Amino acid sequence: MDRELLATTLADAGEPSYRAGQVWEWLTRGVGSYEEMTNLPGTLRDRLEVAVPLSTLSVQAEAKSDDGTVKTLFHTAEGRPIEAVLMRYKDGRHSVCVSSQSGCPLTCSFCATGQMKFGRNLSADEILDQALHFRRLEAIDHVVFMGMGEPTMNLDAVLAACERLPDLGVTNRRTAISTVGWVPGMDRLAECEMPVSLALSLHAPNDELRSRLMPVNDRYPLARVLAACDRYRAKRRRKVFVEYVMLAEVNDLPEHARQLAALLDPRVYKVNLIPYNPTGAFDGSSPERIERFRAILAEHRLTATVRLTRGRDIDAACGQLAATAAA
Ligand code: SAH
Repeated sequence: MDRELLATTLADAGEPSYRAGQVWEWLTRGVGSYEEMTNLPGTLRDRLEVAVPLSTLSVQAEAKSDDGTVKTLFHTAEGRPIEAVLMRYKDGRHSVCVSSQSGCPLTCSFCATGQMKFGRNLSADEILDQALHFRRLEAIDHVVFMGMGEPTMNLDAVLAACERLPDLGVTNRRTAISTVGWVPGMDRLAECEMPVSLALSLHAPNDELRSRLMPVNDRYPLARVLAACDRYRAKRRRKVFVEYVMLAEVNDLPEHARQLAALLDPRVYKVNLIPYNPTGAFDGSSPERIERFRAILAEHRLTATVRLTRGRDIDAACGQLAATAAA
C-alpha cells in the first residue's frame, strides 16, 4: 500500500485523516479488498478502489512446495522483479523472508541474486507489501531480511518497515536483518532503538577464502566485520547469528571448522550452517560433511544448528525464482 498516495487521496476526498489508520488496520488483519473494509463509507471504498491499489507490487508467479513453503515473484510498479517466501515450520512458526532491494549490488559467487543486475532500493511500503501478501494467506510471526538485496545498504526503508511490522503481528525481536558485513550499516543497527536481531553472512573463516566467495570482503575484511559484531553485542546484549553456507571441498573442511571456532567467541555468536541451494556454481556439502563440521565446532563449544531446508522443489533460494522466470 502506497501510504502517501492513500493519505493524499483521502485528503482530496475531504475525508478525516483517521481513515488512513482504518485502511491500514484492515490490511494488517489480512483483508484483501476494499469491499471488506466495512467501516468505510461505500462511496469512499469505490473511490479508493480506483485510486489506490491495495499493494505497490503485482504478483507475477507463485510456487508452492510440498513442505508448505510458498514463494512469490512480484514486480514493482515499473516492472522490477523481487521475491519473498513464506516458510511454515513444524514448530508452528510462520516466517516470511523479504527482499530489501531488487537485485543486489554485491556479487557473492554462490548467490543467484548476486549474478543479477542491481535494480534499486525498495521503499518501506514495498517491503511491507511482501509481508502483507502472505498475511492475506494466514497469520505470520517472524520476518527475516534474507531475500534479495543487502538490507544494511537500504537501512532507512528497512527500519521504517520494521517499525510497522508489529502491526502485522511480527515483533522486532522476531525480526532478523541479515548482512554481508557492511560495517556502517551494522554500526547503525547497533545504535537502533528497536531490538531486531542481526545475522551475519560469514561463509568463510579466513580473508583469502572469504574474498573469493564474497568480493565485499576486500572492502570490509573479517577483522573489521567481527569488530562491528562486538560493538553490536556490547550495545545490544544480544548474540549475533552467523550464517555459513556449506560448499563441498570449498569451505567445509575440518581445518575450516577449526579456524571458524578459533575466530568466533561462543559468548557472542551462534552459528547456523546452511545447506547450499544449488545455483550452478558450486556443489553443496553432503549431510555427513555438514555434521562433521558441526561436531568440530561443538568440540570447541561453539553452538551450531543446521538450517532446515524449505522449498527445495520450488527454487526457493535467494534470486532463484526470478532467475528461472527470466530464463
Ligand atoms: N545480503 C544479505 C541478505 C540476503 S541473502 C546477506 O547476504 O546476508 C540471505 C542469506 O542467504 C545469506 O546468508 C546468503 O549468503 C544466503 N544464500 C545466498 N545464496 C544461497 C544459496 N544458493 N544457498 C544457500 N544460501 C544462500
